[in-house]
Amino acid sequence: MTAPSQPSPTPSRQTRGLRTGLDSDPAKQSVVPPIHMSTNYAFRGLDGRGEYDYSRSGNPTRDLLGEALATLEHGTDTVVTTSGMAAVTLCINSFVPTAGRVVAPHDCYGGTWRQLHWLAEKGQLSVDFVDLTDPEAARAALSAPADLVLLETPSNPLLRLTDIETVAELSHAAGAVVVADNTFCSPLLQRPLELGADIVLHSTTKFINGHSDVIGGAVISRDPDHAQRLAGWANCLGLTAGAFDSYLVLRGLRTLDARIRVHEANTRAVVDLLAGHPAVTRLHHPSLPEHPGHELAVRQQVGGFGSLLSFELAGGMPAVHAFVANLQVALLAESLGGVESLVCHPATMTHASMPPEVQQAAGITNSLVRMSVGIEGIDDLVADLRHGLDAAGRA
Ligand code: PLP
Repeated sequence: MTAPSQPSPTPSRQTRGLRTGLDSDPAKQSVVPPIHMSTNYAFRGLDGRGEYDYSRSGNPTRDLLGEALATLEHGTDTVVTTSGMAAVTLCINSFVPTAGRVVAPHDCYGGTWRQLHWLAEKGQLSVDFVDLTDPEAARAALSAPADLVLLETPSNPLLRLTDIETVAELSHAAGAVVVADNTFCSPLLQRPLELGADIVLHSTTKFINGHSDVIGGAVISRDPDHAQRLAGWANCLGLTAGAFDSYLVLRGLRTLDARIRVHEANTRAVVDLLAGHPAVTRLHHPSLPEHPGHELAVRQQVGGFGSLLSFELAGGMPAVHAFVANLQVALLAESLGGVESLVCHPATMTHASMPPEVQQAAGITNSLVRMSVGIEGIDDLVADLRHGLDAAGRA
């Protein structure tokens, strides 16, 4: 006699998140959920509104992506936006009153810095850009009341780490809503909501979509009041993403776990190469024991150290020119988190909107190169980078 089989265990949150919506179509039993392109939905009489009415306020395809992201981030609600910057706009409009105070990292993404700076110049809010990786600087900044604290860890482009738990506590004591930009890690490496953040923000343009073919964003929350405000403002301002983009991002998201595993393995090999090459004077990656945030990364980034790194070249700008001119596999381009390896020069590309003195204060020098390690065959990638570094060394 065979033993009765055990009921199959409930799939993990990660598996459920990545499988969101599969086999959920009663009409045709399609494995992949269909795209709902319609902008509007018919009422069955004046009292007969269905689940949806107009796609700016709600769309089934966008909702599936939102559900997947909320599951993966251990949140409850998501607003899927047209871009990462739209997600930043949404958080500011939802939580910062006129003349309210924002505290943000001094080395945050250049576009975020620009939005906050421009709004402050217009008198709409005040912003303090603070080195939140320094607990004393964070404590001093948050001894005064604040409305919104933005965290970005690891930071862009220097991979500095902020202790989310500590800064979230200080921020809550200052009366602020804590928004963590989790773009660099994705929910598979780090889950800020579990560490005390109220909101997680993503540029889904990056790892979440992973294929460098959609601009998108998302704001994930866990408090019903926050969720209601975010959904209301997103609809009011018209920030919600379209159905086709949402479909593509959900398609990309399904392979996130597989992609991240290759990103992480390739990054280990690239870090080894850079650490041993004479053309490189400084290397920033949280996996390095000498990195100031290494211990924190081990505790906080539960899924890995990430595939973003930056490094300085001994020969300054001529070396940077020679390095990028001699690459064939890695491309010189903005953005990160795609399947392809990218290098960029933050001072003149991603962070060009920061004035030179602000770049300097944030540690962004002309010799600095940022790399997003892709999922190419590692031997090809290492050979390509070695070729570029050798040329940089001769410049
Ligand atoms: N947050 C971070 C950390 C980013 O790197 C970016 C873009 O590079 C953004 C937000 C803005 O996202 P998007 O380009 O999708 O508007």
